[in-house]
Amino acid sequence: MNGLASGRTEFRWYAGKAFFAQFENSEILDADLTVDAVVEKSGDYIGVDCEIDGSLTVLCDRCLEDLVMPVSTGFMLSVKFGAETAESEEEMEEGREIVYLKEGEGVLDLCQIVYDYACLSLPIQRFHEAGGCNPVVMQYLNPQVVQESAESCAETPFASLKDLMNKE
Ligand SMILES: [Zn+2]
Repeated sequence: MNGLASGRTEFRWYAGKAFFAQFENSEILDADLTVDAVVEKSGDYIGVDCEIDGSLTVLCDRCLEDLVMPVSTGFMLSVKFGAETAESEEEMEEGREIVYLKEGEGVLDLCQIVYDYACLSLPIQRFHEAGGCNPVVMQYLNPQVVQESAESCAETPFASLKDLMNKE
């Protein structure tokens, strides 16, 4: 990053299944994310604005089928050089998270940060919208729920009896 030219530099890359596989996170089954980063360097200041958009595929908590979750998140960083000291207590600066890089290290691991933010953007509870779960799996997992919902629809004996009487 020290070797970066002053001014604005834009990066765009794609984070797919292979990107998440390297973090050995078994929760992410598939990924289709576009990462847009704008790095601004001015003197000692380096700011990183990053947007992450696309989708992540996880398991549905209810039916255990694939569930594609939309992802739209991002972060802003302020990169500082030198070791993080006890005095450097502030973690934020004008809405930016402060990241410390060792002098001479010169490489900011954006991958780890992108990964963290993408995973954090997922809700704790993940399931299909109403009616979107696999009915066969749901019946197997929780037969009682399926039976209850069957009674509320027109497939009950009473429903067909009512039809008969209407025809008379
Ligand atoms: Zn489901």
